[in-house]
Amino acid sequence: MGFDITILGTGSAIPTKDRFLSGQVVNHDEHLFLIDCGEGTQMQLRRYKKSLNRISHVFISHLHADHYLGLPGLLSSMDLLGRVTPLTIFAPKGLDEFIHFNFKISSATPRFPITFVHTQTQGKMLLLENEKLQVFSFPLKHRVPCTGFIFAEKQGKPKFDKRMLGRYFITPEEIIAIKEGADYTAPDGTFFPNSEVTIAPAKPCSYAYCSDTLYLPHLASELQHIDVLYHEATFAHDLSERAKATFHTTATEAAQLASEARVGQLVLGHFSSRYTDPEVLAEEARQIFKNTAKGYEGMVISLRP
Ligand SMILES: [Zn+2]
Repeated sequence: MGFDITILGTGSAIPTKDRFLSGQVVNHDEHLFLIDCGEGTQMQLRRYKKSLNRISHVFISHLHADHYLGLPGLLSSMDLLGRVTPLTIFAPKGLDEFIHFNFKISSATPRFPITFVHTQTQGKMLLLENEKLQVFSFPLKHRVPCTGFIFAEKQGKPKFDKRMLGRYFITPEEIIAIKEGADYTAPDGTFFPNSEVTIAPAKPCSYAYCSDTLYLPHLASELQHIDVLYHEATFAHDLSERAKATFHTTATEAAQLASEARVGQLVLGHFSSRYTDPEVLAEEARQIFKNTAKGYEGMVISLRP
């Protein structure tokens, strides 16, 4: 159960001896989703004990090598481990060709079904939905088509307060009505407003992933009150010109966005290999947005236990 994110890699472009390339696992009530899959991702999945074959969906933000080159190896391992369950990969158009070409030249097509769904950069789109969770993509601005992802829990319904059964005989039909919002009048005439016969649902939690992108101030409206925002901070602000030229964001800009969007927490990642300790980037961001954390390999962000 629970809702948490495990960061597998916080490096950008070139891995360092301490940093892997982009990759994260979102666990939502035991459903595992992989976001981005840089080289080495499958090793990190094993290190942090995430079962490869329990991943049901993969979300690739864009087709730069540091975000998808781990996929051929991961898919091969899934097959060797005997996977039969289907896998869906959300990614910009083109990844399907690359993966199929790889299968062709190695004469090794996995035995489990893989479905590719092309992401779009036209606007916010619902990609996936179950009873409790929705996953959206939204456009970022990078040198190639790129999207971020939002994992947002749905507002749950109130639960019937079973303690009422100790006081009254309540029929299953009445319980269904109460769950739908009805008030309850007991046989002795006592009136209970709905709020007194139900337990309020937990507040829905949300997580947003932004990598890689030019600083986009307008995203603040899209990301209002997100509980945790993971945002790239490839450079410190003294390199803002370089950030702009390469369509990346500085730590200061990520913090400005977090502040404008009034998110709960900002977690930084996608650090340039020039920063031996990216704590300097987190420190810079904290001048603007206090609740900023430096992302690191193995970090677990817990939204709900
Ligand atoms: Zn990147």
